Amino acid sequence: MKLLNNFVSQTLPFVPKQIVSVFAMNYIAGENISTAIQKCRALNKIGAMCTIDHLGESVSDEGTVRKTVDIYLRVLEEISQEKLDSNISIKPTSFGALLSQDNCLENIRKVVKKAHELGNFVRIDMEDHPYTDMTLKAYEELRREFPNSVGVVLQSYLKRTKEDADKLSQGTKANFRLCKGIYNESEKIAYKGIQINENFLETLDLMFSRSAYVGIATHDDKLVDGALKLIEKHQLTKEQYEFQMLLGVRSSLRDQIIAQGHRMRIYLPFGGDWHAYTMRRFKENPDIVGSVLKGFFVR
Ligand SMILES: Cc1cc2nc3c(=O)[nH]c(=O)nc-3n(C[C@H](O)[C@H](O)[C@H](O)COP(=O)(O)OP(=O)(O)OC[C@H]3O[C@@H](n4cnc5c(N)ncnc54)[C@H](O)[C@@H]3O)c2cc1C
Repeated sequence: MKLLNNFVSQTLPFVPKQIVSVFAMNYIAGENISTAIQKCRALNKIGAMCTIDHLGESVSDEGTVRKTVDIYLRVLEEISQEKLDSNISIKPTSFGALLSQDNCLENIRKVVKKAHELGNFVRIDMEDHPYTDMTLKAYEELRREFPNSVGVVLQSYLKRTKEDADKLSQGTKANFRLCKGIYNESEKIAYKGIQINENFLETLDLMFSRSAYVGIATHDDKLVDGALKLIEKHQLTKEQYEFQMLLGVRSSLRDQIIAQGHRMRIYLPFGGDWHAYTMRRFKENPDIVGSVLKGFFVR
């Protein structure tokens, strides 16, 4: 299967966009705000919360950055008007991190301020390692201003993560999403293999012991089981954590977790940049192809 996955992911760039869209649309909530809102409403109906993400990363022109900020401000307005149970997820490199870190922080501040005014929340996604420090700095600075309206992501494949979780959760109530990490990082800074899972559960244990709110972002059965054990160990109530999964991935596990009474949030990407997004995800993780093919044939 691995060979087939690798082969398909290598050849995908040559597959016509219309065909890729058949695969991609399981994972993406359409091209515009209204399709994302519709999908969010449907997920809310089955008991899942959402986090809406406008597709786009590594943006290198100011015009696109400004548009991205405006789109997110509109998404926050729509969520509020439609009374949906959703927050938003943003990426520093689509908020101008490539152009100026100061402007990027200002742009993120704009949406966090808006979220704060509307009683909502912004999750700052974590990208690859050149952006780790600036992302954590932005989180620390903004949470001082808007304590309940912003959170950040830590990746268990990074060797520094436990230390980051330790620093960020001292003295203040932190709000984390914990995931494995999706980028191709070097062995110097990142674990490979089984240590990623070990670090995930050790970091989660530390986060819980500091009373941080954690979004447990995984589709891995071993991590879900490990997280459930830690929830029991720390005697957490349902309001102190949530599970998070990507749109279209392992929906039966999603439903099972919801049925057990845990909070579940679905990451809902939308936007015109879906083709580039899909290609990047396939290249980064050829194993996803296997799940996509299964999802495509088993309907
Ligand atoms: C809500 C959410 C937010 C995330 N935010 C970030 C972030 O900010 N920064 C970051 O670096 N990474 C982020 N990720 C990605 C994450 O780091 C992992 O790369 C990804 O979730 C796969 O890890 P896993 O724990 O699901 O385990 P895996 O072992 O990779 O997956 C377990 C099983 O789930 C299925 N699966 C997993 N991912 C997919 C997929 N995309 N498509 C189809 N099937 C799949 C496969 O069947 C696989 O066997 C996020 C993930 C989630 C769920």
